[in-house]
Amino acid sequence: MTVYRLAVRHAQLMLFALLVTFLFVITIDRMVGHSSLAFAVAIIILIAANSRMRRFNCSTCGKNLFFRGLLVVPWPNKVCTKCGTDLARQAD
Ligand SMILES: [Zn+2]
Repeated sequence: MTVYRLAVRHAQLMLFALLVTFLFVITIDRMVGHSSLAFAVAIIILIAANSRMRRFNCSTCGKNLFFRGLLVVPWPNKVCTKCGTDLARQAD
């Protein structure tokens, strides 16, 4: 499986984690009223789940697939923006 496919799976997992944490915060909000603690727990869960993001790097130059310059975007690059390697075809 290519690094691009693994990164897409990670992006899909993060979308699912975002939905679950959103539902968690809404549920807590309905049950006990507004809670900053529930929001903080959701943020910690999302940061922990996203820690794998650092592993998805171009095998040629090492640039992370989720970075566009200094910005981080939620969808990975198919082609490396630094060296031009086709990340969707390269077996890694
Ligand atoms: Zn590269």
